[in-house]
Amino acid sequence: MIKKDRQIKCLYCKSKFVSSLGWRDLLGLDNEPLLCEDCRMEFVFIEGEICLQCGRPFSLFPEKYRQKDLCLDCVEWSRKGRSISKNRSLLQYNPFLQGFMAQFKYRGDAELIQVFREGLLALFKREFRDSILVPIPLSEENFRE
Ligand SMILES: [Zn+2]
Ligand SMILES: [Zn+2]
Repeated sequence: MIKKDRQIKCLYCKSKFVSSLGWRDLLGLDNEPLLCEDCRMEFVFIEGEICLQCGRPFSLFPEKYRQKDLCLDCVEWSRKGRSISKNRSLLQYNPFLQGFMAQFKYRGDAELIQVFREGLLALFKREFRDSILVPIPLSEENFRE
């Protein structure tokens, strides 16, 4: 029996692509891919050693900008008493992700959140097991809403 390839519309760029047998999406899911291969290839997952406070990968900057487990920015912010305790990100914020997030946040394409759901849930469970989520509005107007 031959399985038929299925035409899928990319959630982001809306181009049609074919889902072949054995395809997995970049987030390691067995589900049908939500994005076409061109879009998926633009995501850069954060891997390897990271700054324990801000979560930036040490591979992004020279060794001299690192002090033990922290980047020099976090060392400096800690000295000024303005450090964050812990930030973790799934992906590097490259120009593609910038456009992707703009479409999600500012153009109301809420469906795009599906792309990150599994990956963010796994990251949250791994890094913030005993934490709770609190929405933080960016403005007074959003706060009132
Ligand atoms: Zn696409
Ligand atoms: Zn840092």
